[in-house]
Amino acid sequence: MAKNENINERKNYLGIMFNCCKVYGRIYKNKEGTAYVGRCPKCMRTIKVPIGEGGTNKRFFNAQ
Ligand SMILES: [Zn+2]
Repeated sequence: MAKNENINERKNYLGIMFNCCKVYGRIYKNKEGTAYVGRCPKCMRTIKVPIGEGGTNKRFFNAQ
């Protein structure tokens, strides 16, 4: 009954630098596994990083 999960299930969060406030934080995968979503711990802006086919290599993102 368990659906086939992502084969390359590594970690369900992404450590990123929030360029808006120059703070480091984590954002977590959404339940669909299509993006990492979270909020800047300082200014509480939301950020969404789409997960590509090969995953994302980027480490620095701007919250919007
Ligand atoms: Zn911020």
